[in-house]
Amino acid sequence: MAKLKVAIYWGASCGGCDIAFVDIHEKILDVIQVAEVVFWPCAMDFKYQDLEGYPDKHIDVTLMSGAIRNSENEHVAHLLRRKSKVMVAYGTCAHMGGIPGLANFTDKEAIFKTAYETTPSTANPDKVVPQTSWRVPEGTLTLPTIYDTVKTLAQTTDVDYFIPGCPPNPEQIAVVLTAVATGKLPSKGSVVGAADRAMCDECPRKKTELKFKEFKRRHLVHPDPEVCFLEQGIICIGSATRAGCGYRCIGSNMPCRGCYGPLPNVHDQGAKMLSAIAACIDSEDPAEVERILDTMPDPAGYFYRFALPASMLQRRHNKHV
Ligand code: SF4
Ligand code: SF4
Repeated sequence: MAKLKVAIYWGASCGGCDIAFVDIHEKILDVIQVAEVVFWPCAMDFKYQDLEGYPDKHIDVTLMSGAIRNSENEHVAHLLRRKSKVMVAYGTCAHMGGIPGLANFTDKEAIFKTAYETTPSTANPDKVVPQTSWRVPEGTLTLPTIYDTVKTLAQTTDVDYFIPGCPPNPEQIAVVLTAVATGKLPSKGSVVGAADRAMCDECPRKKTELKFKEFKRRHLVHPDPEVCFLEQGIICIGSATRAGCGYRCIGSNMPCRGCYGPLPNVHDQGAKMLSAIAACIDSEDPAEVERILDTMPDPAGYFYRFALPASMLQRRHNKHV
């Protein structure tokens, strides 16, 4: 049987999704029995010319991680789509924008100012910033153009399936490859390898009554490892998040931050969680509700940590924050 031709690529990401691929350990031997990697520049010496030289639809399945943050990410996403039969948004950043998507709370100008001028460790008296094109004696050097707004993969090109997770559970990779190899593909647009129920439905922690008068930050307290985080006043996004990761943060006594994304039919994970939290605030008095909310240090960061570009907000619209 001909091997599946697989491409793996990253846009704006940390590389953790590539590590998850390697984390399938000895099962990688099973994968290479059925799959041939035809493009994976993070791990092997592939060039863009290799990809450009393939006929259209030459690749059986592409796993693309990372958000779309610059012109190179966007160009390669379109190229891979053209060259691939099946395009998978692999990992939280490709699925929902992920941590790079938090840049949508500000803009490119402000980010450059922070990174190249105002951080305490920066010494840049001439305010030099990266240029997209620069002449040197040997020719012209170029860099990709960074965009003001971070996008998901599906906001950029046509995506067939989504594998959530920061990073994805390694078993999900085998699920997708097996589905492609056997032709037993789920319906287009499916989230693969995650459950259709909430993290709270799988979480083993004890839950009695969710009511609180104060939010606490995880690193400032010693949570009871058997009691629901929310009951202890610690924000946990489990009720607005798909199960499927094996509650790996919760099992390490860390609250869920929502990287598996919203439940089916929920468009905006942050709004869903905001509504759940609002229902648990133990007061009817507006002044006291205000005081309780003030104990939450970074609501936008909690509720949209992984999903701002995919949310109804997509980005902050008043710029220069
Ligand atoms: S809110 Fe978090 S800790 Fe509580 S039951 Fe849900 S997933 Fe578990
Ligand atoms: S517990 Fe939540 S944040 Fe942690 S890996 Fe699972 S879905 Fe992601």
